Amino acid sequence: MRPLRSAEVIAVGSELLTASRLDTNSLFLAGRLRAIGIQLRAKAVVGDRADDLDAVLRAALGRSDLVVLTGGLVPTDDDLTRPVVAAALERPLSEDPAISEAIRERFARRAMTMPEINRRQAMVPQGATVLPNANGTAPGLYLEAGDHVVVLLPGPPRELEPMFDAVVRDHLRARTTGTRLYTRVVRVFGRSESHTEEAVQPFYARWAARPLPIEATILAARGAIDLHLTVNAPDEITAAGVLGSAVG
Ligand code: AMP
Ligand code: MG
Repeated sequence: MRPLRSAEVIAVGSELLTASRLDTNSLFLAGRLRAIGIQLRAKAVVGDRADDLDAVLRAALGRSDLVVLTGGLVPTDDDLTRPVVAAALERPLSEDPAISEAIRERFARRAMTMPEINRRQAMVPQGATVLPNANGTAPGLYLEAGDHVVVLLPGPPRELEPMFDAVVRDHLRARTTGTRLYTRVVRVFGRSESHTEEAVQPFYARWAARPLPIEATILAARGAIDLHLTVNAPDEITAAGVLGSAVG
């Protein structure tokens, strides 16, 4: 199987398209993925509509090795994400009795009976690994499909973040090359953004052609221009060598 290098995050939730709610899950995931050498290539926010989610998911699968979807796993969202992913990957859904039982017990601990619609949260696409949710009812799901990995995580950050750290990271790390991304920032004073770009341009092809290619991004900072140089390297010493020689 090909190692995971690129990722896309799809945040599902109509509330995230309003002025009052921000998609913060993709920020958390960008940092965590980067730390294990997987670079976020694109991200999207989609409302609770199956046809829109289907289109965005298919585009992401055409582009990136890993697709992480967050949200849309609860009955109030019509459990949108699970059936759309199952259909796109052609995996039939079936109820996992262990999950329905765990949800039933969760309600019972609060002296409540489980509403029947919660059983939808126990529907698992064929071949998926169930990711336990220590802080809510909706379990996450981990799926391998050919060279792709698709992960479904609950929307609430207090459920998603511990789930990622407890189980998702190790699953993903087993599918990476063991490298991670290291960045060095070179601060340039006294030049405009385009002048910096012009000065750096001749280096781009050379950096890209190295055995460990260097990617450059130019960002305007306050009173200066920051040149971000990034390399995917096995360890910090190797990265420091590569990045040091780039600008030395
Ligand atoms: P859901 O699982 O889609 O019903 O989301 C439940 C809760 O998580 C809501 O309060 C959402 O606003 C919040 N939430 C969902 N997606 C995100 C996201 N991408 N970033 C931050 N919060 C989110
Ligand atoms: Mg939602």
